[in-house]
Amino acid sequence: MTLEARSLSAGYAGRAVVHGIDLALEAGEIVALVGANGAGKSTLAKSISGLLPALSGRILLDGKPIERASPAERVRLGIAHVPEGRQVFSGLSIAENLRLGAWVHRRALSEMEMERRIARVCEAFPVLVERLQHPGGTLSGGQQQMLAIARGLMAEPRYLILDEPSLGLSPILVVEIFRMIEALRGRGIAILLSEQNARMSLAIADRAYVIETGRVTIEGAGRELLRRREVIERYLGVGKGVGASDDARSARLTEGLRRIFSSRRIS
Ligand code: ATP
Repeated sequence: MTLEARSLSAGYAGRAVVHGIDLALEAGEIVALVGANGAGKSTLAKSISGLLPALSGRILLDGKPIERASPAERVRLGIAHVPEGRQVFSGLSIAENLRLGAWVHRRALSEMEMERRIARVCEAFPVLVERLQHPGGTLSGGQQQMLAIARGLMAEPRYLILDEPSLGLSPILVVEIFRMIEALRGRGIAILLSEQNARMSLAIADRAYVIETGRVTIEGAGRELLRRREVIERYLGVGKGVGASDDARSARLTEGLRRIFSSRRIS
């Protein structure tokens, strides 16, 4: 099972900001997109999920072209996108926000199945279970990020696109989010992870693509990129990554994460 972009270009008002992207995401792997602000990561993510039409090139799901499919059709086919900025509906309850994630399947889902899905996605997010009837707007930023991811999971995707899931979160929550992303991979979900926190995303990624001014400039195994000089200089040096001033702390967290992960699987 593969989701692929081939020579994909996308942008705004007919002008490409990502150019000729070749990318593949296989079942059960985490693939990181690393790049500076404005490099084109979100644009690429949106064109894969259909929120932004491709200007040219192909998107293939298990070899079949889907670049003309609507975003809803792509969700039905197993591709869910958790956009940057969470976009939680603050006036709707947490349960209602979750139900929206399964909207495209609503005709096929009985009420019992819908509730089973809510219970299932909440297993990973106990904080949501306790507050299902509370408005989404009452959650903290980190909890809203968890709700946004849980809402994406309501569609039971095979491919999950996460755009800046750690943005604006405290270091503890960042670790929590990264651990959860690892756990999702363990459930067989393939994850395309767009992150400014290059250090931590490369630490958990099976493979990664570095995007610069809309083009892939470097690709390889996540841990291999962590050791590449040009990646270190551009994305991992002091002052780079999430919470630039927190770089040393970010490095310590990454080391902690690595220890947790290496105790759980052979890499
Ligand atoms: P960030 O992490 O800051 O979101 P990014 O790597 O995700 O960065 P994009 O958001 O994809 O980058 O932006 C790529 C380019 O496209 C930037 O030059 C940006 O200004 C431009 N852009 C993004 N959204 C729009 C839009 N809605 N209309 C026009 N141009 C846009």
